[in-house]
Amino acid sequence: VDTITSIAEMRDRARALRAEGRRVGFVPTMGYLHEGHLSLVRTAAERSDVVVVSVFVNPTQFGPSEDFDRYPRNLDRDSALLSGAGCDILFAPTPEEMYPARYATVVHVQRLSEKLCGAFRPGHFDGVSTIVAKLFEIVRPTLAVFGQKDAQQAAIIERMVTDLNMDVEIVRAPTVREPDGLAMSSRNSYLTDGERRDASVLHRALERGRTLYEEGERDAAKVLDEMRALIESRPAAEIQYVAAVDSRTLDDVEVLGRGTMLALAVFFGSTRLIDNVVLGAGGSTADASRSEV
Ligand code: AMP
Repeated sequence: VDTITSIAEMRDRARALRAEGRRVGFVPTMGYLHEGHLSLVRTAAERSDVVVVSVFVNPTQFGPSEDFDRYPRNLDRDSALLSGAGCDILFAPTPEEMYPARYATVVHVQRLSEKLCGAFRPGHFDGVSTIVAKLFEIVRPTLAVFGQKDAQQAAIIERMVTDLNMDVEIVRAPTVREPDGLAMSSRNSYLTDGERRDASVLHRALERGRTLYEEGERDAAKVLDEMRALIESRPAAEIQYVAAVDSRTLDDVEVLGRGTMLALAVFFGSTRLIDNVVLGAGGSTADASRSEV
């Protein structure tokens, strides 16, 4: 892949691609790529002529006590993985260029940003919506692919694009999982062996919730209680939230239905993991390991 680090150079390339009428597919990431990221790259490649992947560990989406400094980084490894997945351009800017002195602008998506993870990570989604808006302006993609693993992030980006009339199509790609069901994440590399074993309970809890729903249970509180009990049976697990929400508004629901999202955030030691499933939507189709997507 062609690696570009300067914003000016990326803008020039993007301008030329647009002028040639080429469809640009874009996948924003924080790097330390895994199969989940690569599935997004393949989705982008199927739907566009040129694929741009950004790798940028965005400082403004980390809280002061979060893992910005220790977030795993390996651009050479990322570049090699991208070459095999259909990526054409790797855009890897520096924080100094993205946020120069006197930088002052924030994109805030109201309501959606305050729910679920937003309640526990104040400012996180402002960092996300702002950096994605900046990257869209630099890359000028025809379409951009986001993972269902970060469903709240995808919902916020969709809202931002609609509200700000951004000329980009947002595509959501299914969650890619390890063989035991754990959603792939760069942060899984933090887990000790014991934590890693316990972390598989997250997917089991979500699937338990889905099964209860499919067996006819509609009481969200009951389902969430069972999910919490299952998670708490693992010694390393410390629940931050387990919720049943409308997958569009992210508002809590008391009655489960088609389109309800079961979502959770759980600490294993100092590592915070998130995951979700959407009920109804044809069983596990939002889940790459369980369908042929
Ligand atoms: P990140 O590098 O964690 O910021 O993620 C970059 C993009 O990859 C986001 O759109 C994520 O939702 C997506 N992503 C991360 N993990 C997965 C996964 N296991 N399956 C599918 N998409 C993922």
